[in-house]
Amino acid sequence: MNSYFGTGRLKPLASTAQGVVVGKHDGSRATLYVGSLDDPVVFYHEAAHEALFTTTIDGSILAVLWHAIDRLGITDARLLKDVSATARALMVSSRFAHEVVATYYGIKMVDDKPGALALAKLPRSYRTYFKTASEVIDPWFKSSFLQVRVILALGNFTFRSPFARRFFQDHSSRSPD
Ligand SMILES: [Zn+2]
Repeated sequence: MNSYFGTGRLKPLASTAQGVVVGKHDGSRATLYVGSLDDPVVFYHEAAHEALFTTTIDGSILAVLWHAIDRLGITDARLLKDVSATARALMVSSRFAHEVVATYYGIKMVDDKPGALALAKLPRSYRTYFKTASEVIDPWFKSSFLQVRVILALGNFTFRSPFARRFFQDHSSRSPD
């Protein structure tokens, strides 16, 4: 686990079933725990987090910031404080959207019956994440083939905020260091 998620710091995007952590994603890598290695719902849940961290601009910025904090050994205290504050703000504001996409995608990528069984085992918060997406998507798209594409499209749209554009506009006049 990255040190960024150590004691007293941010919690990684962890998924639980019946009170047990079954998978997590820390921005750099997904982890499936023993006991859930053969569970396709957990696999697809973490795969959705992976897709958001690697294929969207906001997810990529957060992953890069976490990587910089934990792996690049930033020694400038002020820079580390600023980068950490930005990463924390991005995580706090995007956790709900991350989990909505991952939970819905994980359930919809499996057949109806195992999906319903998995949904019933999830904590209330994760059932709320699922419901948030299903109430918007399911009335309009009846096949899971389309539903998973819609949630990925919505995820890509949601994680393409003006944040990156503002950042590059603010810094476009500066020459690279
Ligand atoms: Zn998750």
